[in-house]
Amino acid sequence: MKLVILDRDGVINKDSDAFVKNADEWIPIDGSIKAIARLCKAGFTVVVATNQSGIGRGLFDLDALNAMHKKMHTLVEKAGGKITGVFYCPHGPDDGCACRKPKAGLINAIEQDLNTSANGAIVIGDSLRDLQAG
Ligand SMILES: [Mg+2]
Ligand SMILES: [Zn+2]
Repeated sequence: MKLVILDRDGVINKDSDAFVKNADEWIPIDGSIKAIARLCKAGFTVVVATNQSGIGRGLFDLDALNAMHKKMHTLVEKAGGKITGVFYCPHGPDDGCACRKPKAGLINAIEQDLNTSANGAIVIGDSLRDLQAG
């Protein structure tokens, strides 16, 4: 499997210092949706691995997160692509979880869910911790 693991905020959609908290605030970066569709057409399986500590911080809830991801999926599908899975860490930095990047928990979850190895996967992020997780 040709696997691409994308960060979300700052890679697919515009990031915000005030957190992206709802679907209205979830605004794609120019070209990102088309790029995902092109990856799919080139035979890549595309998944998202994203830290969403805004949930742990009480800034938004799972319904809001699902609404953002529904918007993302709809746009990608309209462009002819598909995001196979969205893997997120809902925890805060002090929760001591195993999934918040730079830890590898999300990557492990991707391997389990897709029943594949992430060895050789392409990891794309806009922060060092994305690449450390990779
Ligand atoms: Mg990011
Ligand atoms: Zn976590």
